[in-house]
Formats: sequence, structure tokens, C-alpha cells
Amino acid sequence: KEREKGQRLYRHTRDELMNDPLQRLELEHDLRKALEREEFELYYQPQYDIRNNRLIGMEALIRWNHPKHGMISPVQFIPLAEETGLIVAIGEWVLRTACSQNKRWQDSGLPTLIVSVNLSLRQFQKHNLVGDILGILRESGLKPHYLELEITESMAMDNVDRVIRKLNELKYWGIRISMDDFGTGYSSLHYLRKIPLHKLKIDQSFIRDLSTDPDSAAIVSTIIAMANHLKLEVVAEGVETEEDLRFLLQQNCAHGQGYFFSRPLPIGEFERLLHRERAGIR
Ligand code: C2E
Ligand code: MG
Ligand code: MG
Ligand code: MG
Repeated sequence: KEREKGQRLYRHTRDELMNDPLQRLELEHDLRKALEREEFELYYQPQYDIRNNRLIGMEALIRWNHPKHGMISPVQFIPLAEETGLIVAIGEWVLRTACSQNKRWQDSGLPTLIVSVNLSLRQFQKHNLVGDILGILRESGLKPHYLELEITESMAMDNVDRVIRKLNELKYWGIRISMDDFGTGYSSLHYLRKIPLHKLKIDQSFIRDLSTDPDSAAIVSTIIAMANHLKLEVVAEGVETEEDLRFLLQQNCAHGQGYFFSRPLPIGEFERLLHRERAGIR
């Protein structure tokens, strides 16, 4: 029932809120207040090693519980937050919340996992990003190698030398880097080789079309093969069917994330999943 409500509101948001300039202005105003009013929430979506069905990590995905409009999708408000600069404070909140949540789960004897956090462009470009993240890790007590940052190709291709320096610094401290939505951007293979990366996430649009579009299937197997050759971990995003899963296994893809395994879950539900994982129930 909650989900129906959420999805109805998502649609409402997509169609109406952002296209109406007045609504948009109001939303921007509300966004400024949302942090102090504690209207944000993190959901967690599990990531699996599909070869043995082991849970390996989770992606933190932000939700905004708007007092009037209900649940608003990050697809709607992240761009607005980016334009207004609010993303820096919101992004910090996401990092702090995800790190301390992961540490709490580890401390309570639940499986030790990696938490992935999406970075936005402005956040990534911030001069003191590395120092900020190290501060957050220190405060939360989470070891750096249990934090993974998701960047996109467009973020990585903008001022490549500076990006490489920043990523090397993060890597030096043990923080993991993952390339999100891979295949939708314009990264050159030349730079892909130079950028310190741990993981490629194959964009969900290719997985969605696996069964209907031979070109998508070819792209997916090519990305998997390339990642395996370059010794990069590879995750398929948006795995929805058993058929997708079979194809991915056949192509030697190690990791998967998607509705087939689980939707993003609020912490209570994710915790139940962690307990089941610890008990070996799948
Ligand atoms: P993303 O980083 O590529 O995250 C994956 C999105 O795909 C999530 O949407 C997730 O719910 C959805 N998804 C997962 N599995 C499936 C599936 O099997 N089928 C389909 N159709 N969708 C699936 P969500 O949570 O709405 O987030 C959308 C985007 O918003 C994210 O894409 C990310 O770019 C951005 N975002 C979310 N949280 C944050 C955040 O904390 N900070 C920043 N900067 N961006 C965020
Ligand atoms: Mg992501
Ligand atoms: Mg992303
Ligand atoms: Mg993605």
C-alpha cells in the first residue's frame, strides 16, 4: 500500500511539480528547509554476488518525504538541489548517515558490507571533498574500505587531470570508487584506463533491453568482458528478471542489483534482510 502511494506521488511529481514554475519555486523553498525538518530518508538497495547469491553491499538512495506532496523522487529534486547548491549540505548528510548506519550494522554483528553513496557533480568538485569525507569516516568510525563512492562518466571526464588526482587521493585512503550508469556517458577508453576505479556499474537501460534488443545484449557482454580484462569489478544495474540473471551469469558478470533481488528498502526492512543473510536464509 505504501508503495502504491509512493508511486502515485512519483508520477504526480514528474508530471506536474517541476514543469509548473510556481510549484518549482515552492519546492525550492521547501528543499531549503528539508534538512533541518528531517524530511530526508535513506533507503538501501542490496547488491549481490550473483555467482553464489551472497550479499556484498548496498547502495544508499535518498528519499524526500515532503509534507504535502508525499514521497518525491531524487530524479526530481537532486537536479534542483544541484542548481541551488543545496546538494553540498544534502550530500554531506547522505554520507554521514550512510557511514554511521553501516557502522551500526557492523557493530551489531550483522554481515560486514560495503555501502555505496552517489556523489553529485558539485559535491565532487568541492575543493575539500577528501578532507570532508575523511572527517565523516573518522566521526562514524567506519573503515574507509567499507565506503564506496559512485561517480558518473560526465563527472570523471570534466577536467580529467584534476579528477584523477582527487580519485587517487581517495584511493590512497582506502575509499572505493565506482562508475555509475556506465555506457550512457562519453568517457573514452583511454581515460578509463587512467582513472583509478574499483567497479563499473552497467547502466540499467542496457539490462532493461537485454531480451528485446540484440545490440543491448552485445553492449552488456562487451562491458563485462572489458571490465573482467581490466580487473575491474562489474555490477549489472536494474536486474529485473530471471532471464536477465541467466544471461549475466553466462557472460561472467559477478555482481547484480535490481528489483529481481530487492527494491530499495527503508532501514527496518533492510535490517530484516541482513538478519536473514546472517542466518543463511535466502
Ligand atoms: P542510480 O544511482 O543509478 O540508482 C539506481 C536507481 O535505479 C534507483 O532509483 C533505484 O531505485 C533504481 N532501480 C534499482 N533497481 C531497479 C530495477 O530493477 N528496475 C528499475 N526500473 N529501477 C531500478 P532512485 O532511487 O529513484 O534514484 C535515482 C537516481 O537519483 C540515482 O540513480 C542517483 O543518480 C540519484 N540519487 C539517488 N540518491 C542519491 C543521493 O543520495 N545523492 C545523489 N547525488 N544522487 C542520488
Ligand atoms: Mg548509483
Ligand atoms: Mg548515480
Ligand atoms: Mg545507476
